[in-house]
Amino acid sequence: MYLVWTSDLSPYLTDSAASRMVMAIIPAERYIIDPITGVNLTLQAACLAIAESFNRLSREGLNVCDLYSGETVMELRGYVTAFRGDWKALKQTFNFKRYADQVCWQCAATKGLSPESLALAYTNVNTDAPWVATIGDTLPWDYEPGYTLLEGFDVKFIHADLLHIYHLGTGRDLVGSALVHMLETRGFFEGSNIAARLASATLEVRRFCKERKLPLKLHKLSRSKLNWNTADMPELRSSGYDTYVVKWLVEVTTRHSAQLPAQLCTALWTADQILSTLAKAGRWLSVEEQELKECYGALFTRSYVEVANSSLERRKRAYRLRPKLHLWHHILKESRPPRINPHVFSTWTDEDALKK
Ligand SMILES: [Zn+2]
Repeated sequence: MYLVWTSDLSPYLTDSAASRMVMAIIPAERYIIDPITGVNLTLQAACLAIAESFNRLSREGLNVCDLYSGETVMELRGYVTAFRGDWKALKQTFNFKRYADQVCWQCAATKGLSPESLALAYTNVNTDAPWVATIGDTLPWDYEPGYTLLEGFDVKFIHADLLHIYHLGTGRDLVGSALVHMLETRGFFEGSNIAARLASATLEVRRFCKERKLPLKLHKLSRSKLNWNTADMPELRSSGYDTYVVKWLVEVTTRHSAQLPAQLCTALWTADQILSTLAKAGRWLSVEEQELKECYGALFTRSYVEVANSSLERRKRAYRLRPKLHLWHHILKESRPPRINPHVFSTWTDEDALKK
């Protein structure tokens, strides 16, 4: 595991190598896991040392001196305000105990695998869903993680990562299933068979991205790229950024809206509006941007679940409902006063820094 930190005040936040500082690299084969509690002792020991070091920066601070006169010109103090990372990293770092039927560290939502847990199922996306009342009720761990010793620590500092939650999660499921639906039905793309329609769709998406100067990693749409087979659910198997092709699909749905379920058009359109707004917005969302996120977010989750339910009723495997949808739901409905842009907690730049 790579443990990196970055300063909110860094003037180089868009430069991945200049703004990400590596604190530790721990190879997974060196982990010591407690067999009874499942706690990653190696990682917790590292986090404890990091917390103590950061606390010195918070409590004692550092004097910044003028290079020529030697005089102290500033006293620098630092406080940890947020944690980000994919689910696996967060689970080990914070000793999350909720897994299997429970899906979330922020609330008591479940997959609804048993009659007892069905009432708290995350697939209930109504505003009065029972899991909503459980947000922040109890701590998600039994064994206090090392980072809780940090000055001012709050469990709300732990943020879901947009890249893994949406771009490599629900967004992929939506784009993949929508594309499969449009490719297996005549009339959306040119061609008398699926192979021909896949070729037409590839040409279309490439042209769309070229005209708008959008980078596209995907060379070719194919059955394997869409995970299109009878046993699995479709998903766009490409880079996270390619989930952005939802922009192109919105254009396709506009041309063919009469042939598509209204919920699907709504899910695609709202997803594009939300993602575009977050990508363009600053560190804090304006009141209007926040309202758009919440309002279109509610529309998105309802439409997506409806389109998934209607597929299920037709015994069609599509529009996968996975726990990432629930974390995306939290991101969309989050309305705390700072109105922080969830894009800030996306790990795009961290992943980029690690590659360098
Ligand atoms: Zn939750």
